[in-house]
Amino acid sequence: MNNKKIIVAGLGHGGISVAAILALNGYDVTVYEKKKEGTLGYDWTDIFAPGALEYAGIPMPPEDKYEYKEDMTFFAPTCPNGLKQHVPTDKREIKMERRDIYEHLINHALGCGVKIEYGCEVFGPIMLGNRVAGIRTEKGDFYGDLVIDACGMNSPVRMNLPEYLGIEKAPDRSEKITIFRAFFNKASDEEVEAKFKVMLFVRGVKGVCWVASEEKYTDLLVGRFDEIDNGELQDFIGYIRENNPRLGTEIVRGGQIVEIPVRQPLSVMVADGYAAIGDSAFMTVPLIGSGIANALKASKMLADTVMADKNCEFTAKTLWNYQCEYYKKIGAGLAPLACAKKVLLNLTPEEIDYCFSSGMITEDDITMGADFNSIGKLFDFDPKGMVNKAKTVCKDPELLKKIILCGGNMSRVIAACAMMPKKWNRERVLSWSKVYCYPFK
Ligand SMILES: Cc1cc2nc3c(=O)[nH]c(=O)nc-3n(C[C@H](O)[C@H](O)[C@H](O)COP(=O)(O)OP(=O)(O)OC[C@H]3O[C@@H](n4cnc5c(N)ncnc54)[C@H](O)[C@@H]3O)c2cc1C
Repeated sequence: MNNKKIIVAGLGHGGISVAAILALNGYDVTVYEKKKEGTLGYDWTDIFAPGALEYAGIPMPPEDKYEYKEDMTFFAPTCPNGLKQHVPTDKREIKMERRDIYEHLINHALGCGVKIEYGCEVFGPIMLGNRVAGIRTEKGDFYGDLVIDACGMNSPVRMNLPEYLGIEKAPDRSEKITIFRAFFNKASDEEVEAKFKVMLFVRGVKGVCWVASEEKYTDLLVGRFDEIDNGELQDFIGYIRENNPRLGTEIVRGGQIVEIPVRQPLSVMVADGYAAIGDSAFMTVPLIGSGIANALKASKMLADTVMADKNCEFTAKTLWNYQCEYYKKIGAGLAPLACAKKVLLNLTPEEIDYCFSSGMITEDDITMGADFNSIGKLFDFDPKGMVNKAKTVCKDPELLKKIILCGGNMSRVIAACAMMPKKWNRERVLSWSKVYCYPFK
């Protein structure tokens, strides 16, 4: 038994997964979660790449607990023809009830020796000099050799760290998406061409919606890069219903409004005694907000880094390798997507229509975005190729300007990721962080 104490703040997917690997390898690991036992997650399903479970050393769930996700069909605001993904069978994601995912991960972690303290809200970090030495919670102060922050996007641990550590705090409004999601009764059994329909900028509103047919209900998601007003939301849902008769009027499950980070990964994820994982490190895919697979994959990278630190120093210097690995295998592919999201927010509905109808965006592009199973870079961008294609196809000078700007920013971000310091040096890391974040300002 290794007597080093690991504190995991928040029972996020990445947090519970790294806890399992470390406990299995003899570390003394306790997870502090504010919710009560059995109340985690939302009353709906999630989609994620099953390869991430294997990567993190977690067995597949029983077969009756998941199914494979339908290909999505994307629609521009007024363009009647959608673009359908054609994801190869071996790259398909699975769809699973969130509470079943949690149960599966928690049971696995408990079997590995993880201790969980439910009903324990974390208020912030405890600093001893420059080092994160523990957490303040509603049940008192807890000290450890390493604090792993898995408290999600609004983590009070990350947000209360001293400024000089250079770790960004809250995401700004354009860096998160507000989501309403509910399962409605199925109002019609008609066969629809697009079973999983994703719609951009419906009625000209900046955001994304989906309507997906399930056996017993119709799944509706409304996502906005702005606050959601309840009165307007009801009107908006009514509009979607007019065009999608399968959407009933009765909410049978879900119905909450929640937020997801959609931005580039955190530029500095570690400090002495501290590492962030999952939404706390902004690991979601910026365009769509999926974060489960990345959090699970990151858990293996973090655990490997911790275990490689034979002197158990757990300093920014020894933990830096975790960030390097994450960027090399995942983050460097996500950051350019954050540039794509930024340009999307600047497009008009007409320009999105034009991107679809002119062939600037194709079914292959949309399918590429679904390749979440690969453990190397998620997305291998070619900004130059994208700009060259736009120069040939695009006849709209304003739109072309936006695409060229986006291509330039993507190239800058790709170069910044490649230039990330290989070894920890505070000054060099903090100045690198400024270069990396610049295109997103
Ligand atoms: C509506 C919605 C739908 C989504 N759908 C998908 C999907 O289909 N596929 C996908 O891959 N991803 C999806 N995501 C994103 C996904 O949930 C996250 O990216 C993923 O769970 C990783 O986040 P996390 O576990 O780090 O953080 P979270 O899921 O935010 O978990 C943080 C945990 O910390 C706890 N916590 C928070 N604050 C405190 C505190 N102060 N003290 C103690 N505990 C605390 C929370 O209760 C929670 O258990 C969705 C997110 C939302 C909101």
